[in-house]
Amino acid sequence: MDYSTFSIPQIRQLLLDKKATAVEITKFFIEKIKLIDPKIKAFITITEKEALEKAAEIDKKITNNETIGKLAGSIMAVKDIFLTKDIETTASSQLLKGYIPQYSSTVCQKLLDQDAIIIGKTNTDPFAFGGSTENSGFFTTKNPWNLDMIPGGSSGGSAAAVSANLCHFALGTDTGGSIRQPASLCGVSGLKPTYGLNSRFGITAMASSFDCPGVFARSVDDIATVTQITAGHDKKDATSTHQTIPDYSSLLDSVNLKGLKIGLPKEYFTDAINPEVKAKVLEAAKVLESQGTILKEVSLPSTNLGLAVYYILVPSEISANMSRYEGIRFGQTVPDSSNIISYYMNIRGQFMEPEVKRRIIIGTYALSSGYYDAYYTKAAKVRTLIKQEFEKVLADVDVILAPVSPTTAWKIGEKCSNPLEMYLADAYTVCINVAGVPSLALPCGFNSNNLPIGFQLIGNFFEESKIMSIGHQYQQITDYHLQISKI
Ligand code: GLN
Repeated sequence: MDYSTFSIPQIRQLLLDKKATAVEITKFFIEKIKLIDPKIKAFITITEKEALEKAAEIDKKITNNETIGKLAGSIMAVKDIFLTKDIETTASSQLLKGYIPQYSSTVCQKLLDQDAIIIGKTNTDPFAFGGSTENSGFFTTKNPWNLDMIPGGSSGGSAAAVSANLCHFALGTDTGGSIRQPASLCGVSGLKPTYGLNSRFGITAMASSFDCPGVFARSVDDIATVTQITAGHDKKDATSTHQTIPDYSSLLDSVNLKGLKIGLPKEYFTDAINPEVKAKVLEAAKVLESQGTILKEVSLPSTNLGLAVYYILVPSEISANMSRYEGIRFGQTVPDSSNIISYYMNIRGQFMEPEVKRRIIIGTYALSSGYYDAYYTKAAKVRTLIKQEFEKVLADVDVILAPVSPTTAWKIGEKCSNPLEMYLADAYTVCINVAGVPSLALPCGFNSNNLPIGFQLIGNFFEESKIMSIGHQYQQITDYHLQISKI
């Protein structure tokens, strides 16, 4: 049986009906990963032993008539920046090679407690710095739809794993687009929740006031099931929300599309976007219009400042967060250094990937005395402006619909020599993180080369259930999310 085509609740039901065991399901995925992953390279670590142990534990519960968790039997892949107890966690940087955490990130632990099975850790740009996985200190992941293309990033491994049906769902983080962009480029669904909905505890920090853990899956329904478990306050993360978490799954049909106002921001539909991408995103808007929604042009005038603001504030926070990697507490060490300064220099010189160094340097510069006001303070002010613009538009329309990426997946190596060109690819995702609002990326078609295209539904703070309901209804009348690449 092909267990990869079942939804999370269906998998659990298979176990309860004794039509499959968790061990059988796990073995099916391990075989599939061994067969397909050498071509895609979504995984850095395959946790065969741990997965089979967990599966046996679930099967034992069933034999003993004990209650099983809500995710029992579901196979999850985890971006390698989430700490996983006793499982190597590298953040895809050579710096952390060999690092075995003593505890798991809150998000992972909550999912494990509901009997999800970790099948492996997925590739990413190091510490999530990037948009293609090409910055990874290990290797580049390939797009399952075309192995010459990037899968997007930074959570490219997780997106590719879901896209190739190597798991039921995968965890990622979105600091400036790293869930939505790879989801779009790989043809799967992905949710960047409101900042603070999911705990950041136990995830290697990129930019602490931006980082949002979230999930990839084929359908919005499975995203709702997983988010139900991950969301909510965590006393180990002071910025995590105190809001009551709604029952997302039961609300999937709750939004009435008749008369619902959808804003199309004109700044996201300029000539800068590839025409095929633009056409497909507008087609998605038309599909929703055919269900009775009202499309309205809106304006987010500071959109063009988004990248500048993001690439000042994020490296600034990165430069502070990276100071903990001094080669003593975590990961790699070097044998002979005459003194502590040369030790630090050796560690960082040898094991930090170029993009990691670049961001530390940019951030340190922006925060240095004399430049702080000109760069950091100014960017922080524009951040408020961008947030206010979203609030204003979202007071007028129910949700905003926009493209995720200005292009489809590009060729591996194409943008590597020019980091600025790579940063430009984030033009349509970063403002959402600057504002902190939630956004759901969904597949909406293919270009003439059969590469996936996605769009995003942006809601107001903590309106995950609204955007998921619209996304779910969209997926009831389209089948882009069900398409699978032929690898
Ligand atoms: N591509 C963006 C960057 O390089 C986003 C990264 C992310 O969201 N982790 O910063």
